[in-house]
Amino acid sequence: MSTPIRDRADACPGALQTHAAADGGLARVRVPGGLLSAGQLRVVAGAARELGDGALELTSRGNLQLRGLADGAEVELGDRLAAAGLLPSETHERIRNVLASTLSGRVAGGALDVTPWVAALDDGLCADPALAGLPGRYLATLDDGRGDVAGLGGDVGLVALDAGTVALTLAGADSGLRCTPADAVDLVLAATRAFLAERTAQESTAWRLAELDDGPARVVERVATSMSVSRAKVQGLPRAEVSSAAGVVRQLDGRTALVAVVPLGRLTTYQAELLADTSAGTLQVTPNRAVAVPDLPDGAAASALTAAGLVLDPESPWLLVTACAGRPGCAKSLADVRADATHAVATATLPADGARQHWAGCGRRCGRPRGEVVDVVATGSGYAIGTSAG
Ligand code: SF4
Repeated sequence: MSTPIRDRADACPGALQTHAAADGGLARVRVPGGLLSAGQLRVVAGAARELGDGALELTSRGNLQLRGLADGAEVELGDRLAAAGLLPSETHERIRNVLASTLSGRVAGGALDVTPWVAALDDGLCADPALAGLPGRYLATLDDGRGDVAGLGGDVGLVALDAGTVALTLAGADSGLRCTPADAVDLVLAATRAFLAERTAQESTAWRLAELDDGPARVVERVATSMSVSRAKVQGLPRAEVSSAAGVVRQLDGRTALVAVVPLGRLTTYQAELLADTSAGTLQVTPNRAVAVPDLPDGAAASALTAAGLVLDPESPWLLVTACAGRPGCAKSLADVRADATHAVATATLPADGARQHWAGCGRRCGRPRGEVVDVVATGSGYAIGTSAG
């Protein structure tokens, strides 16, 4: 693949470096692994109410966004996030993009609990000053073997193949490099440094590893000379079904987790505080724009979450529908796509009933999920419907 010419640095927003949207400042709060405490969720919800437009947006990378911020509000936001432990590094905040398997270690199917890797990787990223130079699009995926995040387009990643073997993924595919679980975080950090070194060596402004010339192969060479790894035949990666992403889940220890999908990823502060109050102390934002609430004695709280507008029915069409910001938040949008998608769900008139679909206000299709998705794109006089993989 030839390296694309980027005519601008990546402009991914952060908590401190906000994006000027049509409805005010947009701040993105990185939440590695989607893992946060009830107290941290309350802090972000409070900031959304007092500094933003009163809601949180869940992103496909398990991060949180605030919209409608006034000029200069990022200073107050940064202070609140830092006090809550959500801004451990001002220099590295935009590159702390880490996805981890949902409820890893708590549910069946995974070979390992990857949860401890999240903090270790985040600490390693923030501890290396050079890694502040990574593009804001950088993404690491930590998959426990179920395949729920390995296929989500990480630049680097780990997949637990069995209790003693971990595979390194590069640009979303198996690299053939293997290590033990004890060396896994060192391996993904080495691959991250190799990505940055190769980007520098190619004098590239590429945002993603896949955009570098022979990026994955060059990273494999660099990693193999920097640490001890074994090699294996490249294999296909596990892939999980999206339909398993909501509902009442029985944990391995007999307790219960609730996985609540947030329609169109827009979480009101009331819903956020209800989730925090419901939790046993920890929560996880998932790449499917849901919030997992683990370690509950039973599923009794499901009805209250449902009554608040969250979705726990695994058959709900909301599991299949995503949308960009659209009007009024984005000046480029040709429609209020969220209102139109909501109307289509409510009236059972989705254009591609039963299929994953992403509604967008223009051809950029921001926030589009990976994989096979029906695109529902505003044209100014309706919507164009098309199927593509991406
Ligand atoms: S897809 Fe287009 S309309 Fe939607 S948020 Fe992106 S730029 Fe705006």
